[in-house]
Amino acid sequence: MMSKVYTAATNKDFTYPDMCNILNFVKERSQKVFINRNTIQQRNEARKEKFANDRKELSGFDFDKELVSYKSKAPEQIRKDLFWPSFGELLRDFDVIVKCIACHAFAKKSARGLCGVCSFYVDAGLWERIVNDKYIPKGLQPNLPEIEKLIPFAAKKIFGFENFREGQAEAIMAYLSGKDTFVSLKTGGGKTLCYALSAICFEGLTIIFSPLKALMDDQKV
Ligand SMILES: [Zn+2]
Repeated sequence: MMSKVYTAATNKDFTYPDMCNILNFVKERSQKVFINRNTIQQRNEARKEKFANDRKELSGFDFDKELVSYKSKAPEQIRKDLFWPSFGELLRDFDVIVKCIACHAFAKKSARGLCGVCSFYVDAGLWERIVNDKYIPKGLQPNLPEIEKLIPFAAKKIFGFENFREGQAEAIMAYLSGKDTFVSLKTGGGKTLCYALSAICFEGLTIIFSPLKALMDDQKV
């Protein structure tokens, strides 16, 4: 066809060397197509096998059995088949795709693969709070922001709040300044933010006792 087009356009035939070049080119190209097709086919076969194996493993999953992580299993428990690995571990890609690469606790939220909290720690310069030090940024750590700036920054970055409700900022400030703090707000008044944000900004471990279940039982009609 190429030859016909060329003849029609130029009113002359391809020369012998031209024909040789074209044939070589066509030959090389079809070889490449063949190789590519084989590679794709092999890759698809491997993928198909992997999915089939994954599916086989999942279909044998007994949800009635206790779920424990591999780490807490003793060898004899594995031998006696007393425990199943946790569901999350069966879905091998689950953590890799969904969870934050630095803390493996919260869902990824940024293109960096970090969750809201880890992104906040990076951007606020609180680098020592990043659980996995592999993900601490390289370079000079910025100066720590003042607590007055840190609190609204965390509220915006993690929870998306531009402003605080009455009493929230004061409560968080008081707690982070080391004062014993008592906050009394009505239901839905924003108590959770007070302790959640304090916990994020606080240096160290925070233990929260929440009476939510008791509250729910209490309010049953
Ligand atoms: Zn994280």
